[in-house]
Amino acid sequence: MASTHHQIVIIGGGTAGITVAAQLLRADKKLDVAIIDPAQKHYYQAAWTLVGAGDFEFADTERNEADLIPNGATWIQEAAAAILPDDNKVALAGGDELSYDFLVVCPGIQIDLDGIEGLRDALGKNEVCSNYTDPNYTWEVLQNFKGGTAIFTQPATPIKCGGAPQKIMYMAEEYFQKAGLKDKTKISFITPGTVIFGMPDFAKTLMQVVDRKGIELRFFHKLTKIDGPNKTAYYTIMANEDDPAKLYHNKMEQGERFSSPTEVAIPFDMLHLAPPQSAPDFIKRSPLVHADGPDKGWVNVDINTLQHKVYPNVFSLGDSAALPTAKTGAAVRKQAPVVVGNLLHVLHNKTGSLDPGYEGYSSCPIVTGYGKMLLAEFKYDNVRDSDKLISFFVDTTKEQYSMYLLKKYGLPFMYWNLMLKGLA
Ligand SMILES: Cc1cc2nc3c(=O)[nH]c(=O)nc-3n(C[C@H](O)[C@H](O)[C@H](O)COP(=O)(O)OP(=O)(O)OC[C@H]3O[C@@H](n4cnc5c(N)ncnc54)[C@H](O)[C@@H]3O)c2cc1C
Repeated sequence: MASTHHQIVIIGGGTAGITVAAQLLRADKKLDVAIIDPAQKHYYQAAWTLVGAGDFEFADTERNEADLIPNGATWIQEAAAAILPDDNKVALAGGDELSYDFLVVCPGIQIDLDGIEGLRDALGKNEVCSNYTDPNYTWEVLQNFKGGTAIFTQPATPIKCGGAPQKIMYMAEEYFQKAGLKDKTKISFITPGTVIFGMPDFAKTLMQVVDRKGIELRFFHKLTKIDGPNKTAYYTIMANEDDPAKLYHNKMEQGERFSSPTEVAIPFDMLHLAPPQSAPDFIKRSPLVHADGPDKGWVNVDINTLQHKVYPNVFSLGDSAALPTAKTGAAVRKQAPVVVGNLLHVLHNKTGSLDPGYEGYSSCPIVTGYGKMLLAEFKYDNVRDSDKLISFFVDTTKEQYSMYLLKKYGLPFMYWNLMLKGLA
C-alpha cells in the first residue's frame, strides 16, 4: 500500500471540488492541492432539465474532467473509499492512502435506485424516465408520448435541485400542447410534500401556472413501488392516517385502485421521477457525519463557516454537506469562497474567528415552459435573497423570458468560463 501526502486534499471534482481548487490556486499558486475523483467526465447538470425537454444538447453539458482540473492541482483518478480524520488520511478504492493537512469533502449526492421497489428495473424503459439519470431518455419519452396519463413525481428523501421534478413537467405540458395531445392527456404532479414550493411568493405564481396548464396536484403521496411492465406506480398516502381513502372520496380515476388500505395504485403512460438520494455510502460510514437526527449521514459542518464541527482541518460544501438549504450549484457558488477563505485562515494560523459568511444562499431557476422562467433565490429559513441587480430590472417571482435566456445561455457560460476557473 502506497501512501502519499498533499497539503490540501479535495474529495470530489464536481461543481464544488473544481471551484474550490481553482479559487485556492488563484489565491496562492504554491499550494499543494490534490483532487480525488474517478470520473472521466464532468457534467453541467443544471442544463439536464432543458436536455430532457429537447431544448439543449446533452453534449454541451459534458466536458472531460482532465480539461477542468486547474493548473497546478494533482488529479488522483480513483474513488475515495474511506475517510480517517483522526489520522488525517483518506483511503482510496485501489488500496492506497493519501494523507493531508487539510481536507475538503464534496463528493456530491448518491442516487439510490434501490430506494423504491422496482425502480432499478423500471428506469430507462417502459416510459419511466428521469432527468437525474438520463435526460436523453426523457426527451425520447416525450417525443414518443401519444397521450394518456403523464405522472411527474419525486421521493421523500432530500434531492439535489428540489425544483427539477416540476420544471420538466411544465416544459412537457407545453410540448404536448404543441403536439396537439393536450385534449387526450392528463398531467399529474404527485408528491410526498404539502406545498408546490417552500416560498409563498413563488408558490403563488406556480399555483397559477399549475391551474393554467390544467395540472392535477396530489400532495401527501410517497412513491413506494414502480411496476414498469404494467405501467403502474404505487403510492403510500401520508395524510388522514385513520382513513387514507378519504383523500380519494368520489375521486378515484379510471384504473386507479387501493392496493392496500394505505396504498393507491395509479396507472401511467409515462412517468418522470427524481430518484431517492442520500449522501454517498463512504461518507455515511465516515466519522465526519451527523450520527443521528434529521441530518444523519450528511457531513457535520458549521452552517455559516463550513468548517467541520469536530475536525477543524476539514471543510465541506455542496450536496454532501448538512446545510439546511437547497442543494444546488448556485449554493456552491456562494459556499466556495467561504470555504477557501476559512481554510486559508486556518492554514496560515491566523488569529480571530472564521468568516461566518455563508448565509444559506441557494437558488432555483424554475422554468415554466419554453422561454419562461421564475428565478427563486433564498437563504436559510426560506428568506428571499434576490440578486440586487437582476431584481432591480425584473420581477423574478413572475415568469420571464429574460430569465430563460439566463438559464439557457448565461448560466452555462458563467459555469464553464468563470465559476470552474475560480473567477465567480
Ligand atoms: C436534473 C438536475 C437539475 C439541476 N438543476 C440545477 C439548477 O437549475 N441550478 C443549480 O444551481 N443546480 C442544479 N442542479 C444541482 C447541481 O448540479 C448540484 O447541486 C451540484 O452539482 C452540486 O455540486 P457537488 O460538487 O456537491 O456535486 P457534483 O457536482 O455532483 O460532483 C460530485 C463529484 O464527486 C465525485 N465523486 C463521487 N463519489 C466519489 C468518491 N467516492 N471519491 C471521489 N470522488 C467522488 C463525482 O464523480 C463528481 O465528480 C441540478 C441537478 C440535476 C441532476
